[in-house]
Amino acid sequence: MKITDMILTDFRTEVCPCIRPLADCEDLSQEEFDGYGNAYFAETDGFLCIFMPYVPHVVAEPRTAFVDSYYWTSQRIYRLKNELISFLKGASFENACYFEGSYKALVFSLGIGRFLRNTLIWIKPFGTFFCMEVIDLQGKGAAELPKTSFGVEDKGCADCGRCSRACLTGALKPDSFDAGRCVRQKQFEKASLDDPLNHLYGNKLLGCNDCQTACPMNAGVTAKATKPSPDYYRMFDLDEFALACCSPGFKSSEYAAVYGVNYAKPMKILGQLLVAMKNDDPSRHVEAVRRCRALGNPNANPILDEWLERFG
Ligand code: SF4
Ligand code: SF4
Repeated sequence: MKITDMILTDFRTEVCPCIRPLADCEDLSQEEFDGYGNAYFAETDGFLCIFMPYVPHVVAEPRTAFVDSYYWTSQRIYRLKNELISFLKGASFENACYFEGSYKALVFSLGIGRFLRNTLIWIKPFGTFFCMEVIDLQGKGAAELPKTSFGVEDKGCADCGRCSRACLTGALKPDSFDAGRCVRQKQFEKASLDDPLNHLYGNKLLGCNDCQTACPMNAGVTAKATKPSPDYYRMFDLDEFALACCSPGFKSSEYAAVYGVNYAKPMKILGQLLVAMKNDDPSRHVEAVRRCRALGNPNANPILDEWLERFG
């Protein structure tokens, strides 16, 4: 039985409504798609690629932190990948395992992707707004893959320059990309009130879509961008989130479902929240920071004191 038939006939998942061949997804605008929809798969050269598109979050509310829907989606597709590996191992692919090689090389070998100036991969139905996972069906690793280089000649975009003009930090220039200035890269690091770029991060806790939303090749997807649910605003209210981070009973599992375990570290998040409060309007958050301080968390106190000294 072909792998496509096996998945369509026998695989069951609660992670998403259904998983379908990528070839069946000609035009996302034809689908009922709310940002948490179907997953898609494509097989190539002994690898199974899984794609999960999403609609980016637009958070215009003041005093709320921005956490992009990418992070929800990446948690969901990770769970889907593990379910699929278990299913495949139980079928005729007992060596199925994680793939550690270049996802970009696989997208190119499928012949469906373009490499954009903002360093992202674009796929016709999803633009750049999708998460991807890969399963190595034969357990051979990445050595079997053809080498692929990604030079200027591979660039498949219109070269309009809108992405670099939209990038506030100067990470993306017309002819280069400086990862050290990119907000998405900075979010992996410990936040600092002394970071000379931090006034440009706004309320971005996880994710920055400025270069992607400016890109005309994403027009079909960004037209659907919506505000997240009221639950989102409750969860990511700057003051409430900071208080949760300083509390002894911080529910890391609740946030890990969104953030992923690697990101749900309360002191790291607190540092980012304090930067976002400073960028919002510090006077609106002094009371909340004082309440955080009153909780007496020894790990949080130094950065809370520093913030209060400057803005309290
Ligand atoms: S993600 Fe944000 S900071 Fe990074 S290149 Fe794009 S616009 Fe610039
Ligand atoms: S905004 Fe323009 S230059 Fe940038 S990736 Fe999109 S098409 Fe290319």
